[in-house]
Amino acid sequence: MQTSDAIPVDYLTTLSAQVLSRTGYPDFPESIQKLPGDLIVVLSEGDFISFAARSPAGGKVLIGIKSYHRYPLTLPNVTRNLIAHELGHAIGLGHNADPTMLMCGRPAPCRPDAFQSDTERFFPLTDQEKARLVHMYPTNWPSR
Ligand SMILES: [Zn+2]
Repeated sequence: MQTSDAIPVDYLTTLSAQVLSRTGYPDFPESIQKLPGDLIVVLSEGDFISFAARSPAGGKVLIGIKSYHRYPLTLPNVTRNLIAHELGHAIGLGHNADPTMLMCGRPAPCRPDAFQSDTERFFPLTDQEKARLVHMYPTNWPSR
């Protein structure tokens, strides 16, 4: 489902900082809780570090994507991989330290600008991440 409901940039900016600091955060406000679905992807005009945040009470995951008018989302091939990276968090993946991989991130020095490419492509998952997903979602994968 797509909605044009607005989530204030100030809220996204604060939540981004809280996710990044790993200090925890209060549960999502009622305005977000009432939105249908378990995964909410917010395409914002704001300028914050994009993030995925799981509701402390469980259930919903909120992905905040900063404005695509702002660096580094202005670089070719970055936005698609940034969104895929945050979706990876939403389904349970953490970070690795390999800059050639989709889920590279803190504390490794990987930042979204590393997704820049002149050819449109998604950065891959590691074999370990794929195995983890198969383990977490065993019935959702086709058997071979
Ligand atoms: Zn990340």
